[in-house]
Amino acid sequence: MKIDVTLTKHPKEKPADESKLSFGKLFTDHMFIMDYDEGEGWHSPRIVPYGPIEIEPSAMCLHYGQEVFEGLKAYHTADGRKLLFRPDRNMARMNISNERLCIPKIDEKFGVEAIKKLVEVDKDWIPTAKGTSLYIRPFIFAVDPMIGVHPAKHLKFIIILSPVGAYYPKGIDPVDIYVETNYVRTVRGGMGFAKTAGNYAASLKAQDEAEKKDFTQVLWLDGVERKYIEEVGTMNVFFIINGKAVTPSLDGATLAGITRMSSMELLRKWGYDVEERRISIDEVAEAAAAGHLDEAFGTGTAAVISPIGKLCWHDKDIVINGGKIGPITQRLYDTLTGIQSGELEDDMGWTVEI
Ligand SMILES: *Cc1c(COP(=O)(O)O)cnc(C)c1O
Repeated sequence: MKIDVTLTKHPKEKPADESKLSFGKLFTDHMFIMDYDEGEGWHSPRIVPYGPIEIEPSAMCLHYGQEVFEGLKAYHTADGRKLLFRPDRNMARMNISNERLCIPKIDEKFGVEAIKKLVEVDKDWIPTAKGTSLYIRPFIFAVDPMIGVHPAKHLKFIIILSPVGAYYPKGIDPVDIYVETNYVRTVRGGMGFAKTAGNYAASLKAQDEAEKKDFTQVLWLDGVERKYIEEVGTMNVFFIINGKAVTPSLDGATLAGITRMSSMELLRKWGYDVEERRISIDEVAEAAAAGHLDEAFGTGTAAVISPIGKLCWHDKDIVINGGKIGPITQRLYDTLTGIQSGELEDDMGWTVEI
């Protein structure tokens, strides 16, 4: 399919001071849109000026949350190249989410082409300061004007772009995490493995209460036994126990993060044992008490690697590595961000040049 391009006649002013960029508040000049109509399939891919879209108040997504999304970044390298990090994985995961939400699949290769083309059109929006990037948000939602509960026959696939600042402007700071024992995010059989709005709606209350207690995020336990660790906030989670890396297995309630997958590949390449298995909060507390919990960190596109300094479980504090970032966490952070930003040679074949 050919992508029609209509350029804006009113380009916005780009941020003058990249050190003041925050996350997700500013959008570029253009967006990608494609429609789905039953009988026609996905059609009319186009790049148009960024701006409001019109949907009916009865549009299904507003009532029943039939929506999926993705998140990835484009980086400007010091030598002027523009890189994406494993975009094929995002488009493959989008189809896994689509399948769960009864959304018609997209052509994954075409999805990557659409991302590349949109970033190319708005390439001057990729910030260049260290640690900054252009966040890419593809999403699909149901627009049938009908408030019956059925899979939609009419949908939109949109991609928007947002220049984002460095996640750690003052250097990496380990975060304090509240182990959530009241609310759950998802359960096996639910939508936890899909990147869909509803999972986030389910997480807001716990996140809000944790923030009021001065924690950055919550550690989610499984919804059935309330004991096995699933994720940390909107990130996957790793523990280094006795020199081995352990991360929760994907049991249907956990999202298969691309940063998680990349971290496992690097750790294995470096010779570490990586175990994907069920891990309980009791096991983590016991390992900590025995002095075997070396490090813990979250993984996700936004922060890349986020070291955990402290876990609070039933009013008991589990302090990890004296509240400081550990050596494996630091090496993963440096390597991943180095490859993504083009500072390190990409010997894993992960980056795609635009
Ligand atoms: C997006 C997301 C992640 C991280 O996935 P990445 O591909 O590494 O960005 C982890 N958990 C949840 C719930 C997510 O939505």
